[in-house]
Amino acid sequence: MSMPTDQSADRPGLAASGQSGLSSLWLSTAGPAPLLPTLAGDCRTEVAIIGAGYSGLAAAHRLQQRGVAAVVLDANEVGFGGSGRNGGVVSAKYRLSFPAIAGAYGLDIARLMHRIAHESVDAVEELVQEFGIGAAGFARVGNLKCAHTERSSASIVAEAEWLQRELGDRAVAVLTPAEVAAETGSRSFRSGVLTKDAGAIHPLNYIRGLAAGLAARQVQIYEHSPVTEMQRASDGVSLLTPRGRVHAQQVIVATDAWSNLSPATRRFRQSIIPFRSAIIATEPLPPELNARLLVNCRSYTETRRMMKWFRKVDGRVIFGGRGAFGKQESMAAFDGLQHGMCALFPELQAVRVTHRWSGFVGMTMDQLPHVGRQDDRISFCVGYNGAGVAMASMLGRYAADFAMGEQPAVGLLDASRLKAVPFYPLREAGVRMVAGWYQLLDAIGR
Ligand SMILES: Cc1cc2nc3c(=O)[nH]c(=O)nc-3n(C[C@H](O)[C@H](O)[C@H](O)COP(=O)(O)OP(=O)(O)OC[C@H]3O[C@@H](n4cnc5c(N)ncnc54)[C@H](O)[C@@H]3O)c2cc1C
Repeated sequence: MSMPTDQSADRPGLAASGQSGLSSLWLSTAGPAPLLPTLAGDCRTEVAIIGAGYSGLAAAHRLQQRGVAAVVLDANEVGFGGSGRNGGVVSAKYRLSFPAIAGAYGLDIARLMHRIAHESVDAVEELVQEFGIGAAGFARVGNLKCAHTERSSASIVAEAEWLQRELGDRAVAVLTPAEVAAETGSRSFRSGVLTKDAGAIHPLNYIRGLAAGLAARQVQIYEHSPVTEMQRASDGVSLLTPRGRVHAQQVIVATDAWSNLSPATRRFRQSIIPFRSAIIATEPLPPELNARLLVNCRSYTETRRMMKWFRKVDGRVIFGGRGAFGKQESMAAFDGLQHGMCALFPELQAVRVTHRWSGFVGMTMDQLPHVGRQDDRISFCVGYNGAGVAMASMLGRYAADFAMGEQPAVGLLDASRLKAVPFYPLREAGVRMVAGWYQLLDAIGR
């Protein structure tokens, strides 16, 4: 198959990051991958799902619960995309703040979006429990948003107070600079907002556990089975792969930032900008440092536009962020992350970085994910803007309901709001220009 792709550097699969001498902490600590077949021959099903990440498998799970036959096809291994590479921060958020949503669309819409966001974290918890995925280590450790300037401090405190007052959100609490310093071990922050019900997870064990659990329930999941073409017929849609085809009544597209892998999903390629996001992990910290840094093992995010985030996993600090990282994985980008990490935690200068990896997040024009119907045969859920662990676990569920002809209330996430990117061929330059501008604003504290 010809896979014209911006992401060809990563194409060989999860081990791809190893190709360039880089490796993911998740890959080196995950349990075994489930043994799954490649599609060979033809079959018929009610719903075919393209993509075996959280979106695709959450959709498959919903269909399985409803007694609807489904087949899942992935071009690579389960978890090849964001679902096997992410930071494992399980949060109830969008890139748009709730006050901004209320300001533009009204309080009722903000309430609905807030409810969906919180249900998405519940969705992860439910899946982990239902399939007994203990190795995912899911826990509601909380997320602490740390303000890097007085200006950002005023903004996050005002937002937290708004959430408490207008949406009755009791999970958020404002922390003083001293409390943030005690929590993080860093004196770089002006204040913090704790969201107590956010979680953290081992992302690859989560997706592998889902796949294993669904396969044990006879859901057919095929790896290394790229859909190269969708052919419409009067009685459904045929999905072509190199060694077989699936004929389905309904199709769900769940390819997020990887929608450019094949022309079959080209409609989504026009609407989603893949943006590289990178992560480093240190060696296990010496005991004295381990006892001082990130003591509550929450997830932590910064308020910079080019947001950095960090966690502690098994005594290691993992530190990630987005930037003008470009098409290929580059050591300069990882060095930049390490520099940012040591600026916050100078003690980490003496600690080795042992893992470096990256992937693509799928950005949309309105900074929101979207779910719903494209037409009478095709539904989709895509565009998580880098916050998809919880949301994809939820929107896959909705996508299955849409495919079954239902109309769940999804507010601003509605499919009709997914817009094509204008001047799509220029997106690479655009991404780099915007990222560079944001980095400059961050650097000068604006
Ligand atoms: C480095 C990084 C860090 C992140 N950190 C976080 C975080 O901490 N918290 C958070 O909430 N989110 C995070 N995210 C985002 C999150 O991982 C994604 O939003 C989420 O995994 C999207 O899941 P998905 O199932 O929609 O897509 P993916 O997991 O990307 O799966 C898409 C799948 O589609 C397959 N595919 C594509 N085209 C075809 C085709 N033609 N035929 C068959 N299969 C195809 C691909 O092989 C891929 O497996 C991060 C992402 C990255 C890359």
